[in-house]
Amino acid sequence: MTSIVVLGSTNMDLVAYVPRAPALGETVTGRSFRTIPGGKGANQAVAAARAGGEVSMIGAVGTDEFGVRLRATLDHGAVDTDLLRTVEGASGTAHIVVDDEGGNAIVVVPGANGTVTSLDHGDEALIGTADLLLLQLELPLSVVVEGAATARRLGVRTVLTPAPAQPLPPELLAATDLLVPNEHEAAALTGLTDPREAALALLRDVPEVVVTLGAAGSLYAARGADPVVVPAPRVRAVDTTGAGDTFVGALAVALGEGRPAPEALAWAGIAAALSVQREGASTSMPFRTEIEAAFG
Ligand code: ADP
Repeated sequence: MTSIVVLGSTNMDLVAYVPRAPALGETVTGRSFRTIPGGKGANQAVAAARAGGEVSMIGAVGTDEFGVRLRATLDHGAVDTDLLRTVEGASGTAHIVVDDEGGNAIVVVPGANGTVTSLDHGDEALIGTADLLLLQLELPLSVVVEGAATARRLGVRTVLTPAPAQPLPPELLAATDLLVPNEHEAAALTGLTDPREAALALLRDVPEVVVTLGAAGSLYAARGADPVVVPAPRVRAVDTTGAGDTFVGALAVALGEGRPAPEALAWAGIAAALSVQREGASTSMPFRTEIEAAFG
């Protein structure tokens, strides 16, 4: 079984379903509202656990009612939360608008996530037991850098989702084995809108890059080889929230099992395609049996 540690965020997603997203200064009437446990870290953790990984989560929830539900969701998702802190105050929240086409716009308020600024000995020991460490940018950058550097020192493979998009410090790139931006993040990081060109530019800093391309699938690039595009299954998307996190969680499991990169991307693409056909983020993630059945 692939052993995965996620160093990342837990957020309560507050989701309004709307005919179309409001412009700044505009008010629109929504169709419905849901609270759904999320956060890029927690989503990747649940996705990886459902895909068949043995997953532990390092991060923090608040002492509010959201924190109780966020921890319970990870526990029920078979994610080990022994090193998930509970800190005084509000949990992280993500304020999400989903339109009729399944597109989304998101504001994240870090809350408890913002208190995770460094690792302790227990965190380091846990990271040392993993095959892969999954990182995103919804925790303070200091701890993301520390986590990546710790994993690198301990010989653990690091997978970084550079979201929300922001400039990456050289010491973080230097400790990243696989960078997984979506098209927008790849463009923001490189100034190049063509995903293939962006991936090639990113290979100057990291050895492997996967750019997710939405309905078009994903692109794999490694040093010394031509980039390959792995198409996504054609499906009817109802909610793409968390598609990227589902993809990364499943990708980590597949890579940890030793599948070659193109096959791992195809497997992760099937997991993500299953998730976009259902509403929500962590609630929409497929289980391993579903992924295997669709993979054939
Ligand atoms: P993010 O969710 O981070 O914005 P993407 O939109 O690129 O990232 O989606 C991540 C992955 O989810 C894609 O690489 C693809 O495999 C899958 N995916 C997203 N949208 C669709 C879709 N409409 N149909 C099929 N697969 C999709």
